[in-house]
Amino acid sequence: MKLDTLASWATRLRARDISSRELTELYLGRIDRLDPQLNSFISVTPELALAAADAADERLARGEEAPLLGLPVAQKDIFCTAGVRTSCGSKMLDNFIAPYTATMVERMNAAGAVMLGKTNMDEFAMGSSNETSHYGPVLNPWDPERVPGGSSGGSAAAVAARLVPAATGTDTGGSIRQPAAFCGITGIKPTYGRVSRYGMIAFASSLDQAGPMAASAEDCALMLNAMAGFDPRDSTSVERPAEDFTAGLGAELKGLRIGLPREFFGEGLDPDVRTVIEAALGVLRERGAELIEISLPNSGLSVPAYYVVAPAECSSNLARYDGVRFGHRCDEPRDLTDLYTRSRAEGFGAEVKRRIMIGTYVLSAGYYDAYYLKAQKVRRLIAEDFRRAFGQVDVIAGPTSPETPFRLGEKSADPVQMYLSDIYTIAVNLAGLPGLSMPAGTVGNLPVGMQLIGNYFDEARLLGVAHQFQQETDWHARMPAAFV
Ligand code: GLN
Repeated sequence: MKLDTLASWATRLRARDISSRELTELYLGRIDRLDPQLNSFISVTPELALAAADAADERLARGEEAPLLGLPVAQKDIFCTAGVRTSCGSKMLDNFIAPYTATMVERMNAAGAVMLGKTNMDEFAMGSSNETSHYGPVLNPWDPERVPGGSSGGSAAAVAARLVPAATGTDTGGSIRQPAAFCGITGIKPTYGRVSRYGMIAFASSLDQAGPMAASAEDCALMLNAMAGFDPRDSTSVERPAEDFTAGLGAELKGLRIGLPREFFGEGLDPDVRTVIEAALGVLRERGAELIEISLPNSGLSVPAYYVVAPAECSSNLARYDGVRFGHRCDEPRDLTDLYTRSRAEGFGAEVKRRIMIGTYVLSAGYYDAYYLKAQKVRRLIAEDFRRAFGQVDVIAGPTSPETPFRLGEKSADPVQMYLSDIYTIAVNLAGLPGLSMPAGTVGNLPVGMQLIGNYFDEARLLGVAHQFQQETDWHARMPAAFV
């Protein structure tokens, strides 16, 4: 059977051409058969999925309308799901069953989505390769010797191999966009505050944002319609009227001003990736977009600023894993200090510990001004760069990542090399802007992603530009040969 997009499955479900149960069984069968090659799921939940599918079939039979009714999806294992383990990719939460469900997941469930399981990820979403997961690395479906990107690498690989038509991710510094680029799918990080963070395990609270990952921009728009919305339980959630993110899909590119930041095409960019991006920009220009060179002069400071702010927030957020209330607890602690130190030493992996150490250091009394405060000032300068740029252009475009997917183990020994994977994505999080990655071409067999950055709340426009590109090209529709 053709492995369709969410949008066409939705049409077929309504036409009673297939039932949600049949659709769910189709994808569960693929996970069962093919995921041993990828390790993209931490938990698969067939019983819950089939029950949700039957409920959706009843709603469909009654002629009910709900945006994701009967459609199979996967949730990144960072979102709390009542009754189902939520591990966040960590030994610390290997035994954690959340007593409640994240708002975003609740919204998708209410919209009729059928959850097939929870996807693999870097531990506590810290990483760019999925190699820091307690559950082992995820492999890239285009080449099993390469990483799928991270931290939402499980979601990206699962969607690319069509083990599920769509999945959720979170993006603190690039974790939706970079794995989407590495796996040849579409993903969007919405404006900070669009999607509730309630029940999403916190890494760096001022940067974390959830978003959809799917084959096409149209599918991402359908997902985002269900995911986004004000939540009184998240104090950073923005109160705005509901918006239809599919509204801009038909918008023509004629007259659209696309800014190309000089800094995103300079040193460090793989020449083959550059060639692919230039060809993709050519497609946009042919459809009437105007390409304008711009500058984001402080973007070179985004990685260093991020690696102060994100660890600072993570050290504070992860202080809650103390072995007392939930999560891993060491055996036979001698006293309270021993309980804390051994539980944390045993529960966290090396990268998480590194971040906690950096974070507590930059927040400590003697260094707060020199590092944390300074990084916050740089963050403001980066946001100002974008504000100026959006006075001149409607959308900013460039590569999502400076290179194609790297080999497993290639950067594990060198954290700074790993951190540089996100050199084009991190500034977007520091500014709180929306950013999308879409498949733009390949180098050999390996996917290349193009990033589109929008002004605040301009997701519909980004999705529209990507959709127009996807009318002209078929990169988003291609599947890795081993999974057809
Ligand atoms: N790779 C970046 C990091 O390790 C971003 C991760 C993310 O966006 N969650 O922090």
